Amino acid sequence: MSDAPAIIEVRNLRKWYPVRKGFFASVLGLGETRHVKAVDDVSFSVRPGEVLGLAGESGCGKSTTGMTVLKLHVPSAGAILFDGVDLASIRSRARLKHFRRAAQIVFQNPYESLNPRFTVFQSVLEPIRIQRPDERARHDAMVRLALERAGLIPVESFLHRYPHEMSGGQLQRVAIARAIAVEPRFLVADEPVSMLDVSVRAGILNLFRKFAAELDMGILYISHDLSTMRHICSRIAIMYLGRIVEIGPAAQILGDPRHPYAQALIAAAPVMRRGARQRIHLEGAVPNPIDIPAGCRFNPRCGKVMAECRTVEPVLRPAMGERQAACHLVG
Ligand code: SF4
Repeated sequence: MSDAPAIIEVRNLRKWYPVRKGFFASVLGLGETRHVKAVDDVSFSVRPGEVLGLAGESGCGKSTTGMTVLKLHVPSAGAILFDGVDLASIRSRARLKHFRRAAQIVFQNPYESLNPRFTVFQSVLEPIRIQRPDERARHDAMVRLALERAGLIPVESFLHRYPHEMSGGQLQRVAIARAIAVEPRFLVADEPVSMLDVSVRAGILNLFRKFAAELDMGILYISHDLSTMRHICSRIAIMYLGRIVEIGPAAQILGDPRHPYAQALIAAAPVMRRGARQRIHLEGAVPNPIDIPAGCRFNPRCGKVMAECRTVEPVLRPAMGERQAACHLVG
């Protein structure tokens, strides 16, 4: 990983969705508007050549964070800086287009992200045609290079295939080729292997590691599966109910988590050696993101809860090593 400044810096990002009131309450203007606080004051950065893992249970807000960072959702508050420039301050269409080209996403489901009527060549060509129309003479070479980088070799044997003629792993490689075809500098990979057979996951994950190392790409890798993060992430952020509760170098977070939620999540992740870790039982279910508990939002489920935890919300602060954790027991 380089020492270069961050490609993406997210500051106090929020994405809240208003909840519709009942008919009479709306007509009579009664009651406050309530919100689903999907992303609630999240900050992090991604540098060139770095893979930052964003982990947490389903519904913790990690996918919404990824989509909002790419401006596929409009943020409710906070700032997203690309190369140090706040995206909200960009008025020029050309500069916004530059961002759209430089920041791409790979979705979870390759069956939905590819057009069944397009051949592989047409699918990968489409973003190139839209984002780089002036380089027409290079389009064919760009498609081939993207397929080669995504591991679809020999390229010639894949170019004219349709999605129904390919396996799930091959389709996800085509989706990855589409994303990298326009040579982005920042990539969001949202659960990119969760729908794939276990036997092909390692090959796909290695691609992201290779893109970071060889193309100096910054990658936000979103997953609920910490065992996959172990192999590709340089840093990891653990999210709970819309907020990051621990962030730091992957080896430190996975080896010795400080936040009680991170400890429970990591204890539940599969390991190679049987019995190497003791599971930590989490009480209850994730609370409703409309009614976030007062104080520490993890307090109803935490086995170490104290009186202070029910009234004062902890903020991220330095924990052991280079990480930060949001817990009153840390620091
Ligand atoms: Fe548990 Fe309190 Fe720490 Fe929250 S602040 S994680 S409730 S000990």
